[in-house]
Amino acid sequence: MSPEFIIYAWTFGTLAVFALLALWNEHRRRTFEPARQPDTIFRCEKCAAVYTDDPAVERSRCPQCGQTNHPVEF
Ligand SMILES: [Zn+2]
Repeated sequence: MSPEFIIYAWTFGTLAVFALLALWNEHRRRTFEPARQPDTIFRCEKCAAVYTDDPAVERSRCPQCGQTNHPVEF
């Protein structure tokens, strides 16, 4: 084996590993992102503060003033 071959093999091997890691990362991101529900947006009726909370909750308490609010309908 010539030293050049070892250098080329090492370089391409490293690049291949990085490419695989990037692909795997991208795949993992695409697999998990749609499953995750985005937070529900709430807008306080009392102080107009906009905040987010768990999408499972029907009503959320305003972190600013404590007013209970319904989610914002688009
Ligand atoms: Zn408020």
